[in-house]
Amino acid sequence: MLIIGSHVSFGNNQLLGSVEEAISYGANALMFYTGAPSNTLRKPILPEYLSAAQKLMQEQQIDLANVICHAPYIINLANRSDDEKWQFSINFLQQELTRCEELGVQTIVLHPGSAVGITKEEGLQNIAAALQIILAKPRNVTIALETMAGKGSECGTSISEIAYLLNSVPDNTHLGVCLDTCHLNDAGYDMADFDIYLDDFAQQIPLSKIKCIHINDSKNPLGSHKDRHANIGFGTIGFANLIKIIYHEKLKDVPKILETPYIGQTDEDKERLYPPYKYEIAMIKQKEFNPHIMEDIRSFYK
Ligand code: FE
Ligand code: FE
Ligand code: ZN
Repeated sequence: MLIIGSHVSFGNNQLLGSVEEAISYGANALMFYTGAPSNTLRKPILPEYLSAAQKLMQEQQIDLANVICHAPYIINLANRSDDEKWQFSINFLQQELTRCEELGVQTIVLHPGSAVGITKEEGLQNIAAALQIILAKPRNVTIALETMAGKGSECGTSISEIAYLLNSVPDNTHLGVCLDTCHLNDAGYDMADFDIYLDDFAQQIPLSKIKCIHINDSKNPLGSHKDRHANIGFGTIGFANLIKIIYHEKLKDVPKILETPYIGQTDEDKERLYPPYKYEIAMIKQKEFNPHIMEDIRSFYK
């Protein structure tokens, strides 16, 4: 069965709200940040919402394995120019892992980090050192390193960089990978030749390490290093190539998560934005591009 969902919010009702939102999109998977990705303010996990969320997931047959957390992007394990800041990133990621354990979430997606003012090699070494510290504590949560577009000085843009990180810890049982189709395109991997990419990947990393796939089209051409997501079928990757990835036999058990942009009532409307996921998920299930999807979304939320 296709495992598909989207980014959802983790609001006042916490996981319960996230699960309800996912169900409203026809999803059986979901991904959320446990708070604003840009700050450290976090509310404690409330047991009443958690048990209601668990009950709802059971009723709707949403497997906890397909509930993904995304680590906040203020965490930068590559930056060790200031040891205090590096420790802050490590500590905050550890707190997020504890929150995942409280929620029963088994996978957290992490941007490996950006090598600000240092070489990429130094950045990768700093990330590896941080992962060694973090993974020394046994937990039931897997950190899935996201493949990055190469915007600025991002680390983790090539298969070999991800492989280096996976091999840099004594035991990588709880270290995996999150592919992002927009990031792969922008990093220079042609999604029209996804099988070539997957073969290259498998030469260096077992495919079983792929824990999540972010399904996004891209606003920019191959190798542009930009990282701007487009709606499914409206970018340079295109609907047919994304469908092939989503339904790839070798990745059928991996949750697919949409992180495509919200839509305004007009192309210029940046004020009231609506999630495209209900319609994008329906279109993916149909395996047929819906040329009227923007109008459908606008009239549904009007
Ligand atoms: Fe991400
Ligand atoms: Fe992503
Ligand atoms: Zn992105």
